[in-house]
Amino acid sequence: MKYETVIGLEVHAQLLTESKIFCGCSTKFGREPNSNTCPVCAGFPGVLPVLNKKVVEFAIRAGLATHCQIAASSRLARKNYFYPDLPKGYQISQYELPVSTNGYIDVTVAGASKRIRLTRIHLEEDAGKNIHDLRGDSSLVDLNRAGVPLLEIVSEPDIRSAEEAGNYLKSLRAVLQYLEICDGNMEEGSFRCDANVSVRLEGTKELGTKTELKNLNSFKAVEGALKYEIERHSQTLSAGGKLFQETRLWDADREVTRSMRTKEFAHDYRYFPDPDLLPLVIEEQWVEAIGAAMPELPDARKARFISQYRLPAYDAELLTGRKDVADYFETAVKTHPNPKSISNWIMGDIFRVLKERKLDEQLYVSAWPISATHLGELVSLIDEGKISGRIAKTVFEAILDSSRSPQQIVADKGLEQVSDIESIEMAVEEILAANPKQVSDYKAGNEKVFGFLVGQIMKATKGKVNPQKANEILKQKLTQAS
Ligand code: ADP
Ligand code: ZN
Ligand code: MG
Repeated sequence: MKYETVIGLEVHAQLLTESKIFCGCSTKFGREPNSNTCPVCAGFPGVLPVLNKKVVEFAIRAGLATHCQIAASSRLARKNYFYPDLPKGYQISQYELPVSTNGYIDVTVAGASKRIRLTRIHLEEDAGKNIHDLRGDSSLVDLNRAGVPLLEIVSEPDIRSAEEAGNYLKSLRAVLQYLEICDGNMEEGSFRCDANVSVRLEGTKELGTKTELKNLNSFKAVEGALKYEIERHSQTLSAGGKLFQETRLWDADREVTRSMRTKEFAHDYRYFPDPDLLPLVIEEQWVEAIGAAMPELPDARKARFISQYRLPAYDAELLTGRKDVADYFETAVKTHPNPKSISNWIMGDIFRVLKERKLDEQLYVSAWPISATHLGELVSLIDEGKISGRIAKTVFEAILDSSRSPQQIVADKGLEQVSDIESIEMAVEEILAANPKQVSDYKAGNEKVFGFLVGQIMKATKGKVNPQKANEILKQKLTQAS
C-alpha cells in the first residue's frame, strides 16, 4: 500500500524588537541570567502588561508579506499551564482572534512553484528557560527570555514531504529576514519549528493521526525527524498497527524520535481573553502605511536577479534564499560586473568550502572565509586575462582566511599569467623538442596528442601561460613544421 505524507508546521519566530512585548525590558541575548527582568515579565501579582507597538507593526509586516488578511480587531488571550519557566502560570497569546489569517507562501519544489497556505499568524510572549545541568541538586530558571515577543506562524497541512518542509522553512525564514523582523537563527532558537506529520492512503481525503515533533533546532533535524516519523507511521499502519496522537522529541544523536507525552488538547489550556489587555484595534491607514514601506521581498529580488543580471532561475533562487547571501552577491557584482561568473563561484567553490567546514547552515556571510570584494577582484583578474581559470583556483584557496587581496596573492606568488608571445613560443618549442614522438604522431594524423602537448606546456609553466594563446601557437608550430 502506498501512503501519502501530510505535514503542517508551526513556526515560532522571535522578533527583533529592542524591548519585550509587555514591558520595557531588553530582549538582548546572552546577558547575565535574570538581569533583563522586571515585575511584569517576572510575573509579580498586581502588575499590568502594556503592548509594545513595534511588535504589532512587525506582525503586520509579516502578515502583508505572506498575503494574509490583517484583522481590524483581534484579542490577546491567556493560555493556562503550569511550568517553572512561566511565572504567571499563563502565557499571553492569541486564540480565537489572531492578528492575521489566510495567507500563503510560494515555495519552489523540484523546480516548480508550490503554494503553501498559512492558517494564521498570531502574537505571543516567549517563556523563560529552565537550566537543569548547572547544579546537581536543583534546576535553575532564567527569565531573560520571558516576555520576548514571538510570532507563531501556522501552516495548513499542505506540505507533502520532508524536503518540502525544509524548503518551506527556508522560504519563510527568508521572508522574515528580508523584513528585518527576525534573524532566523535556528541554532540559537530565534526561529523554531514544531512539525506535525501524518500519513494517509494515497487517494484518500481524510487526515491521518498526527504526531507533533519537537526539539528541531536545525534544518537537518527537521528533515531527519520527519523522514524517521513518516517511515514509522507507514510501517505501523501497513503492519495493521495503530498510531496515537502524541508529542515526540527528536534525538539528534541517535537519529530517532521518542514519545514525550500524549497530545494535550486546546481545552486543556482553558483559553480566555486576557482581561488586562484591550482588544487590539488596527487602523487601516496604519496597515496601508506599512504596506507602502515594505522592503523588496525574496520573490521580487529573485525576479530582479533574473532580469537585471540575466541569471538562470536556478541561480537566482539559490542566491536570494538568504538576504545576506543576496547582498554578498550584489556587493561582489559591484566590484566586478560579471554576475554569472560570480554566481558560479558562490554556488560552486564557496558553497563547497562552507560544506567542508560545516558552515553551510551558519547564518551570516560575515563568517565566510572570503569577502565579497575579494571574490569580485578574483573574477576580474580572470576576465582581464591576468590569471588563468586554473590559477584562479589556487588563488582562491590562498585567499581563504587571508586578509591579502587576490592581486597581492598573485604578485607575491608570481602567478601572473604569461601572455607575451615570445615567452609562450619559447615554452612551446621546448615541449616540441622534448616530445619528438608525439610530434611525429600528430603529423601522421593522430590529433589526440594535441591535448597531451598542451598539457605538457601548462605543466612546464605551472599553468601560467594563457591557454588560448598557447593553443594557437602550438597549432601554428605544428603545421609550420610539417
Ligand atoms: P492542534 O489542535 O493539535 O494544535 P491544529 O489543528 O491547530 O492542531 O494544527 C496544528 C498544526 O498541525 C497545523 O500546522 C496543521 O496544519 C497541522 N496538522 C493538523 N492536523 C494534521 C494532520 N492530521 N497531519 C499533519 N498535520 C496536521
Ligand atoms: Zn520586564
Ligand atoms: Mg492548534
